[in-house]
Amino acid sequence: MPYLPNMKTGHYILLIALLIISSCSRYENIKGVYVLLQAPEIRQRYGGEMGALADELKEAHVSLVISPTMEHGTAYYPSDVLPKRWEYGTQLLALRHELRRRDIRFAAYIPVFTDAYAYRAQPGLRAVNDYGSRNGSEQQHAVCPNNPEYQSYKLEAIEEVILILQPDIVYLDNLFFPVNPLYICPENSTNNIRSYCFCSSCLQAFQEHSQIVLPQGQSTADIAAEILEHHETEWIQWKCETITSFMEKASKTIHTVNPDCKIMLSVLPWKEKQLHSGRKRLSGQDVKTLAPFVDYFTLLPCPFQTGQFDSALSSVVSDLQVTERRVIPSIEMRNYRPTELGNEFYFQRSLQHFQHNVIISDWGYLLKNRPYLNTFISEP
Ligand SMILES: [Zn+2]
Repeated sequence: MPYLPNMKTGHYILLIALLIISSCSRYENIKGVYVLLQAPEIRQRYGGEMGALADELKEAHVSLVISPTMEHGTAYYPSDVLPKRWEYGTQLLALRHELRRRDIRFAAYIPVFTDAYAYRAQPGLRAVNDYGSRNGSEQQHAVCPNNPEYQSYKLEAIEEVILILQPDIVYLDNLFFPVNPLYICPENSTNNIRSYCFCSSCLQAFQEHSQIVLPQGQSTADIAAEILEHHETEWIQWKCETITSFMEKASKTIHTVNPDCKIMLSVLPWKEKQLHSGRKRLSGQDVKTLAPFVDYFTLLPCPFQTGQFDSALSSVVSDLQVTERRVIPSIEMRNYRPTELGNEFYFQRSLQHFQHNVIISDWGYLLKNRPYLNTFISEP
């Protein structure tokens, strides 16, 4: 049997090679950047030259580009599902193609429960807060996450994006109950953030789910107070199940079209217990139940501000690591707070701190602010 040992050796070599490949992909480099083709800086610099844009991203060692595929009812690709189309037609499709040629991964950014078009067109979709008011959701164009027709519309759009743009990753943003964006970054968050959604269909769904009978003939604010005071545990449970069940549907939709497509989900950059378990309580995101349907969690972008930024974000990253999913911090370049030492210093320090695992918002801002761009290019 002279061949048997050789075959065995062959198998071992194959096995070791597979192990090496899989361990490499687990720790792949993520130097990510948001690219908004609509931004004036991008339009001025590249016009429609998507190859030139992709070349510069490659030179900056970018390994992942995140680009919006739709916003407020307008599709940035040839769509039959969304009501409107972007005037620049197929430029996003061209960018996607140029990125693939340069081996840069492309993440299709899809905002889920925010949509100004749907918000305006269908009053029943507008999310209602614990004051019984829609004012807060109006600024964000935040729609109720519990509406079956809106959910199917979004799933159809997701399916279409995968078929047409063939992304490596689908990035799902705003897949949560509305949270005022002003309070998202840990330094600004308070205990006073308004809670959603108390629209009639959510109240109905909550009653059916929890078997709790809510008082009749009272104002929405009074019913909300009753729920938050006496049934908060059940309320949070229902919110988390609503979000997780949509995530499950989205994951199925995505993997039916492309089983290899990865899924990225943005979450509030808070530790689990922060603000009385604020992530679950307000957004309805339970990272433990979401994890089976997600490949990467990204932290919603926050501006780097002081020396505390990196360590604060790192502690959120390690707090979320319990799910064994990769957690990627995002840095918001706009609206930062000026510091005495110069912000390039802090930016550089953050890049070094989160080496090979960070997303920057965004490329247009870097173009306009060359010192940052130079720092971004020179750091790994
Ligand atoms: Zn609702």
